[in-house]
Amino acid sequence: MLVDLRSDTVTRPTAAMRQAMAAADVGDDVYGEDPTVTALEQRVAALLGQEAAVFTPTGSMANQLGLRSLCPPGKEVLCDDAAHVVRAELGAAAALSGITTRTYGAPAGRIDVERITDLMRPDAGPYLVSTAAVVVENTHNFGGGTVAHLEDIRRLREVTRDAGLAMHLDGARLWNAHVASGTPLSAYGELFDTVSVCLSKGLGAPVGSVLASSAERVAEARVWRKRLGGGMRQVGILAAGGLHALDHHVERLADDHARARRLATELADAVPGCVDPSCVETNIVVLEVPDVAPIVARAREAGVLVGGLDARHLRVVTHLDVDDDAVDRAVQVLSDSLRATARG
Ligand SMILES: *Cc1c(COP(=O)(O)O)cnc(C)c1O
Repeated sequence: MLVDLRSDTVTRPTAAMRQAMAAADVGDDVYGEDPTVTALEQRVAALLGQEAAVFTPTGSMANQLGLRSLCPPGKEVLCDDAAHVVRAELGAAAALSGITTRTYGAPAGRIDVERITDLMRPDAGPYLVSTAAVVVENTHNFGGGTVAHLEDIRRLREVTRDAGLAMHLDGARLWNAHVASGTPLSAYGELFDTVSVCLSKGLGAPVGSVLASSAERVAEARVWRKRLGGGMRQVGILAAGGLHALDHHVERLADDHARARRLATELADAVPGCVDPSCVETNIVVLEVPDVAPIVARAREAGVLVGGLDARHLRVVTHLDVDDDAVDRAVQVLSDSLRATARG
């Protein structure tokens, strides 16, 4: 059996989730007639302290629908240079919506209110690009699963409100931030104009994300979802997986976090210096290594899959399909691989 720690996207629906999906009441969602989709949208909107929500096939689409509703063509969105919206969405903001992005370095993906305030140009005049919106990612994926502090988000909200700028939350893993910090989802959600969340990461649904916002923005997002080819018909089958995940897979994220912390602690004991376990806040562990490729290859041969963030950093992600035995195996195989490649 492979232990797949490349991402929390690799989870497979549980037997109970498949049953809930098979039994879902469905209708044509393009006509607004799928009761299960509507139930999911309303539930997520309420959880996030927003008026309305729209179900999307992917988190990228949810993010892009949010960004385009906040930023007109020719204006810019500010985000950190490791944000998913700039690193992992294939230039969609520019390609689909005429949005430019301006980025700044943010260690571990942390919010730096002063830096962002310096960069914002709400009204840049006739020669420079004007800023329309700021993006926050929580937890921060390529930053190593770090949780954005509510206090920082609040300060950023004040600054952006004063400047007349909008804010988008890429909350693909907001569930993890909520469970790790104890902060209610709505306390995060209500500070933003648009919020995206993924059901197909740690929550374990096979497909699906949700964009939540005001009723007006969500109505506009529905038009653009259809225009982009994301109008889906009897999709309650998928929404049911999301509803099941909300009922059964949110609080258990604490187990993934505990396993990630244990994995980091045991690896740090076995191979001193490869990771600081105190930096592990949720389900993502980043290991610093001399060279990623041979370690990934060696671990794969031994049945453990991990991914590289860049040439010197491995990303190891715990999730629903990783139990205590899998963590034991991963510690064994990764520490062997790290030691073997250190010897050269
Ligand atoms: C996974 C992820 C998304 C969405 O990815 P899709 O593959 O398009 O569903 C968005 N933001 C972050 C931070 C992610 O990790």
